[in-house]
Order: sequence, then C-alpha cells, then structure tokens
Amino acid sequence: MVNPLASQPRVRLNNGVEMPLLGLGVYDMYGREAETAVIRALEIGYRLIDTATLYENEAEVGRAVRASGLPRQELFVTTKVANPDQGFDATLRAFEASLQRLKFDYIDLYLVHWPIKGKRRATWQALEKLYEEGRVRAIGVANYLQPFLEELATYARVVPAVNQVEFSPYLYLKDLLVYCRNRGIQLQAYSPLLRGIRLKDPRLLALAARYGKTPAQLILRWDMEHGVSAIPKSSNPQRLLENTGLFDFQISADDMAFMDTFHENLRVVEDPMTML
Ligand code: NDP
Repeated sequence: MVNPLASQPRVRLNNGVEMPLLGLGVYDMYGREAETAVIRALEIGYRLIDTATLYENEAEVGRAVRASGLPRQELFVTTKVANPDQGFDATLRAFEASLQRLKFDYIDLYLVHWPIKGKRRATWQALEKLYEEGRVRAIGVANYLQPFLEELATYARVVPAVNQVEFSPYLYLKDLLVYCRNRGIQLQAYSPLLRGIRLKDPRLLALAARYGKTPAQLILRWDMEHGVSAIPKSSNPQRLLENTGLFDFQISADDMAFMDTFHENLRVVEDPMTML
C-alpha cells in the first residue's frame, strides 16, 4: 500500500521548528483505546499527536510512542496546560507532571489550553520560561480569538508559534486566519470535522462525490488549502486512514470559494469569548 503520509507537508513555525500539517487529536479516547489508536496512527504515518492534560491520556500517548519504535525526534507531540493548573508556578508544576506521564525529555509544542481570566499573563510567562530553558521546542495558545491575541501581544516576549482554535468551513474564521498569518502564528483547526454533525450536508456530499473523496477528506483538504493545520480525532482504523487521504488532490479556487460560503458560525465546543 502506498503510504499517503510518506511525504506529508510540514510547516515551518515562526521559530524554525517544523510541524506536520495533519495530526491526530486524541480527545475522548481513554486507556487501551487511546494507546491502540495512537499506535495504529503512527503505523499509518501520522507524526503529529495532539493530547492535553485534560484528556487524561498522556501516559497512553507516551506508551504508544515507545511501542511504535519510532525515533522520538521524528514525532511531534503537543500537550496543553489544563485550566485549573494555570498561573506561573502551577503551570511549571503541571508541565513537569505532563513530562512524567508521557515519560518524555521534552514536549514539541506546549499550549495554553484556554484563555483563563486573571491567569493569562502568568501562564504565558511560565511557557516562555520553559521555552527559553529548552524544555519545549515551541509554545502556543489555544482558543485565543483575536482579542486574546491582542492582549497577549502587549506583554509577550515570545510570539506564539501556534494558535489552535475551532475552525471548519462552517466556522470559517477568516479575519483570525489573516491576523495570525500576518504575525507568523500558525493556525491549527480543532474539531475540524465538527464531530461529524455536518458530514451529511448535501452540498459537501455533492462536492466530495465530484472529487471522488469523502466529506471528511474534502474538509481536511480545505484546511490545507487555507494553510491551516488540522488534527481530526478518530480511534477507528478505517477512519484514521481515511483522514490521511487529502494529499493527492486539490480543491479548485471556485470550489474553495464555495466552501467558504458554508460559514454559519457553528461551534461544537464552547465559544472562547465567554472567557473574556
Ligand atoms: P473531530 O471534528 O475531529 O471529530 C471527531 C469525531 O468524528 C469522532 O466522533 C470520530 O469518531 C468522528 N470521525 C473521525 N473521522 C471521521 C470520518 N472520516 N468520517 C466520519 N466521522 C469521523 O472532533 P474533536 O473535537 O475530537 O477534535 C479533534 C481534536 O482537536 C481533539 O481530539 C483534540 O485533540 C483537539 N481539540 C482541542 C480543543 C481545544 O480546546 N484546544 C477542543 C476540542 C478538540 P471515530 O473515533 O469513531 O472515528
């Protein structure tokens, strides 16, 4: 079988570190299921794994990485500081705990999971310290809509390498994408498949049929065409593979413009603006 991820595109982050554009999200998988899914994903060719302390599967991700036999430096593992752990000292402690659960020497990308009121500055300063000490290869944020990024810019010494937000044709955050692009912040789409709730949209089905692709593949390709990284979750072997089938075709400019019109401000996860 031809490995669809053999020459998968990578993006150079603002500090020169390379990150695969496509990754596996591991939210809502636990224990043996999580470990097996990550092992399978690494066999298929995924090299970016997105976990978080909140997901309670860092230990399983670490075990799967070791079971794969792949050199650690070939992989890109993201984890995130959980909301109750935010603040300067608590974040530093949480980072050590994540490393211990993963049994890693370093994390590739450490993210602030949510912009928590009253904690944002101290949490970011803890990430900057970890970055400057070489404990993480890159630092970034998640759920930082533009007002949060503007606030961060007033005190940050390190520009976030990545901003991970909910993003899909049905939540096309064009202004945020442009804002991030202009500042060298790589946008990464979480819940890119909207947890499945729009995969039967007749417009999407018709387009997908025309390209000989599935709706999920079309959405993930739409992300790539916009230069956005995506981290779809699956623990199903068939769908893990399906979600890699997006590097052998392109969406035409007209069809991209059409998909852009699917925007309906639809979220499957809480709106980060409630945190302001
Ligand atoms: P996704 O949009 O990735 O959807 C996942 C769901 O869709 C699962 O139920 C999965 O089921 C199903 N699915 C996967 N592939 C297909 C397919 N090809 N066809 C049909 N159904 C499919 O949702 P998530 O919310 O999990 O987002 C992805 C990742 O983003 C998370 O795992 C997490 O890593 C990250 N995330 C980050 C957040 C943050 O605050 N920073 C918030 C939310 C998510 P099955 O497993 O059975 O295939």
